[in-house]
Amino acid sequence: MDTESSTTPAPLLEVKDLRTYFYTRSGTGRAVDGVSFTLKQGESLGLLGESGCGKSMTSLSILRLVPRPAGRIVSGQVLFRGRDLLRISEQDMRRVRGKEIAMILQDPLSTLNPVFTIGNQVAEPLRVHGVVSRSRLWERVSKLLSLVRIPAPESRLKDYPHQFSGGMRQRVVGATAIAAGPRLLIADEPTTSLDVTIQAQYLRLLKELQRESNLSIIYITHDLATLARICDRVAVMYAGKIVEQLTVEALFERPAHPYTEALLQSVPRMDRKVHRFASIEGSPPVVYDLPPGCAFAPRCPKAMDICRSESPPATRIGADHHVSCWLHEKDEHESHAAGSQERQ
Ligand code: SF4
Repeated sequence: MDTESSTTPAPLLEVKDLRTYFYTRSGTGRAVDGVSFTLKQGESLGLLGESGCGKSMTSLSILRLVPRPAGRIVSGQVLFRGRDLLRISEQDMRRVRGKEIAMILQDPLSTLNPVFTIGNQVAEPLRVHGVVSRSRLWERVSKLLSLVRIPAPESRLKDYPHQFSGGMRQRVVGATAIAAGPRLLIADEPTTSLDVTIQAQYLRLLKELQRESNLSIIYITHDLATLARICDRVAVMYAGKIVEQLTVEALFERPAHPYTEALLQSVPRMDRKVHRFASIEGSPPVVYDLPPGCAFAPRCPKAMDICRSESPPATRIGADHHVSCWLHEKDEHESHAAGSQERQ
């Protein structure tokens, strides 16, 4: 019997070889191109990369919200609590959205409707998913507002969004997202439009919510500092693929992919003396016109001949550390070769 599989709890989410393509006059755009990762209950995973690398499209694919008709999920599996979300009916999927998986969008402040009261907006997911009885609805809404640190919540239920400060509105959006008790929260750059103080408060709030309700989080960002504060593990994306997966500590201590290294060299670090920040030469490829081989090759200072013709496979280079780069694949081949020579 496989002892490990009998004792290790199944992951909450398992994304396997997910592919989402866009079919337009410009050709076929491989926006998500064979993405695989897992997420445990209570764990937070950061999706990191430049704009257009496929982070947001990966999360929209998980929720089956890819813009139609151009976009289509062409293959793969999204196993959520063992059930493949790509194979269930649209009606069942509507129950999953909001109730089991919630999403906070890039500009959370604009998600509040100015003509509805705060109380009604937090109550909406509770009503839609029938989470509490009518008699306990307002008690539950007040509790949620108090959970996100809104003072005297009972007295604020009939207020409108314009009567709340930016930071408070942000917290109300958090309350709305967790109202129906989801197990997974997908946060797509929710702090981008906020000033630094509110950003810090918001990240603290997310961490607290995660601790209190054992919530799993997928946090989409291009900001390394945010990622360090909120995530346990990171998947670095480039041109629709995950090129490296590792823990947050490993990200800062021993990045292995040249793209990850370049991202780290382009930002200030408190723990390192840097005289000059390096920018990444060139621009990210267009998904409609990807080069053959490794998509990072035209920008990579370490590119070799094989990189321009063959796509590197994912290689395990440590506990919870995988990288797709021929440099590491080469190391593996060499160590295998050395091992077999020694054995001869
Ligand atoms: Fe650079 Fe080659 Fe590695 Fe791609 S596979 S990141 S081009 S070294």
